[in-house]
Amino acid sequence: MTNTDSKLIKPGSTIGILGGGQLGRMIALAGRAMGYRFVTMDPTEDAPCAQTADRQIVASYDDVKAAMQLASHSDVISYEFENVDAQVAEVLESQAYVPQGSRLLRITQNRIREKTAIREIGIPVAPFCVVNSLEDLQAAVRELGLPAVMKTATGGYDGKGQWVLRSEAELTEAYETLAKAGTELIVEQFIPFQLELSVIAARNPAGELAVFPTAENIHKENILHLSIVPARVSDEVKKRAEEIARTIVEKLDVVGLIAVELFLTADDQLYVNELAPRPHNSGHYTMDACVTSQFEQHVRAVCNLPLGSTELLSPVVMVNILGEHLQPVIDRIDKLPPTAKLHLYGKAESKVKRKMGHINVLAPTVEEALAHIEELEIWTHKTEVSS
Ligand code: AMP
Repeated sequence: MTNTDSKLIKPGSTIGILGGGQLGRMIALAGRAMGYRFVTMDPTEDAPCAQTADRQIVASYDDVKAAMQLASHSDVISYEFENVDAQVAEVLESQAYVPQGSRLLRITQNRIREKTAIREIGIPVAPFCVVNSLEDLQAAVRELGLPAVMKTATGGYDGKGQWVLRSEAELTEAYETLAKAGTELIVEQFIPFQLELSVIAARNPAGELAVFPTAENIHKENILHLSIVPARVSDEVKKRAEEIARTIVEKLDVVGLIAVELFLTADDQLYVNELAPRPHNSGHYTMDACVTSQFEQHVRAVCNLPLGSTELLSPVVMVNILGEHLQPVIDRIDKLPPTAKLHLYGKAESKVKRKMGHINVLAPTVEEALAHIEELEIWTHKTEVSS
């Protein structure tokens, strides 16, 4: 690491963010409170982050000229998604200061590289095989057994680009369907997990490291629904999950934030499923329940400020507001308990399954927070979206 890699970016400086979605918006909200200025680059006019930044460059994510413009306005650059175009990453790194670098991006952009890197540092992942043909798939299934999960190596999110293989009879159809994406495929052993957990950790260029408390995550149709903190697992499991995140940060030389998603099995084994080198939906609980939010921590980390305390101040449940929940939430806004904190992302169009916001419900126990959410009767019924 060179000296320029650990320079201090002082308040008053401008932070450039590639991507203008809700994660960028919440980074900018936290950073502005600390006196930073923001410029964002996103193809959508008035994107969620643009509403909270000082300036927006309206351009697609792979627009190299626009990336140069972003670089010229920024004292430091970060990103709010991992699928950063390789050429854009190169331009930003050569024309601007990008303390997070592009090595981790390259790893997390591809499930094969990601799982290989995690396995190489001695952390368990589901056993997997790389698949480039139907014959490879058949061999992989012989080796790993069924059920198994086939995924595209790049580009998938929220369960898209995935197929749970349950019988030999579906291999041809599954292969032909996923191969259409034109990327390599990976087949993983199916992990019969009891719970999904995640841990968010941060490191600044000076090498300081901080880990947030483990979250328990409940998904509905592959989209995060609830994050419950403290997670309802033993202290020993939490400690091991947090230790895994710490090891990943140290061994992969992470700067900025990283989210580590894990599976917990009935016999208390932990497997890392996925990494995200940025703030993460399962860390939104930190905004109201921790001394420092994940967004503030991200700003502190990329600016090389001392990291903030990750102490949990209250049990909390985060519930996501998808397009179909937005109107019911607004209709029942007077029913929200006084310890519920509403966050909406300012998206112009509400669509079913689109993440529109979230609520952090604080309570003396997570059971009480879950009961408050249940009482709102918003997430129990299917509600039509009116857009
Ligand atoms: P991913 O896109 O890798 O985060 O996967 C989306 C969801 O699919 C996960 O949250 C799990 O619920 C499920 N899943 C993915 N991989 C596996 C696996 N190897 N075993 C069991 N379930 C999985």
